[in-house]
Amino acid sequence: MNRRKPLIIAGEQIRLGEIRDLQLTFSESYLGSRVAIPLRVIRGKRAGPRVFITGAIHGDELTGIGIIRELLFDQPPRLLKGTLICAPVVNIFGLERSSRYLPDRRDLNRSFPGSATGSMTSRLAHAIFTEIVRQCDYGIDFHSAAVRRINNPNVRADMTRPEVKKLARAFGCEVIVNSKGPEGSLRRTAVRHGIPTIILEAGEVWKFEPGMVAIGVRGCLNVLKSLGMIEGPVDEPLFQVAVKKTTWVRAERGGFLAFHAKPGDLVRKGQALATNYSIFGFERNLLLSPAQGMILGMTTMPAVQPGEPVYHIAVLADATYRRILKKIKEGSNEHLFQRILEDLSTNMIIQKKK
Ligand SMILES: [Zn+2]
Repeated sequence: MNRRKPLIIAGEQIRLGEIRDLQLTFSESYLGSRVAIPLRVIRGKRAGPRVFITGAIHGDELTGIGIIRELLFDQPPRLLKGTLICAPVVNIFGLERSSRYLPDRRDLNRSFPGSATGSMTSRLAHAIFTEIVRQCDYGIDFHSAAVRRINNPNVRADMTRPEVKKLARAFGCEVIVNSKGPEGSLRRTAVRHGIPTIILEAGEVWKFEPGMVAIGVRGCLNVLKSLGMIEGPVDEPLFQVAVKKTTWVRAERGGFLAFHAKPGDLVRKGQALATNYSIFGFERNLLLSPAQGMILGMTTMPAVQPGEPVYHIAVLADATYRRILKKIKEGSNEHLFQRILEDLSTNMIIQKKK
């Protein structure tokens, strides 16, 4: 789409065959020094697709930083053609304050495409959107769950659009959730501008989790392979399911939860997910699964009040449920999917129902 135009970012032209580190200035500190986003641009010798990968649009979600770091330092992709633009930290202000938001308390991922004369957040969105996103043909944006929550890795993509669907499938994550994304999010806005973009939701805030990093790196390499930008066979997931419907399980009573299921677990309708106990250990109520499916995400904090989200479940039809169960049973314990399940349960205590 943009292949024949010269690639100019932050006022610098990057030519075919070059690898360049750039600083994209978007703001200033109180003391007047420049605040810039670090970028690495890798170009193959031949023209081809342009792909961007972004991390830490939410400043406390470090998953993408870990993924891009691993991708660039341990096994830097040698591109046969095309261009990879890496922005490991988009929301620098948020990262430095361990916060999801910018100092003006706005959410960057609700502010795209932004404006050059708007709020602090809107200006950052504009810089990213004009200098990077609009110069690309495809995009991958990395996220994790919000504070005190954890997500089983899942790609989110608008599966009603064939090009987005192809990208989501190629990434090779086991679970894809079909959704357009919130208004003003990077991916929804990029897709509206004709640039197929997906996100990966994986793990927790404030962490580099080895399994989440591995699934992100595998996904980036799979996408580059599927576009013919690097050589090698696609690294297949253990299974792949595109989920149309998800549902939330919320606390009914105030109390303390003993969890009986963790992210990635397959659950049947009516299965006990958590027991809610009073402060002195009396059972208050039992949270049951309202559907058959897979746990996509959950709270990591046992203290709850009525209405608080406890589990997020991907609803699965019976045949799909059985197909996944079979693949998991047959799969090796060494498979990335299985290793990730272990990473995911390090922050909660999972107990059998008494
Ligand atoms: Zn996020």
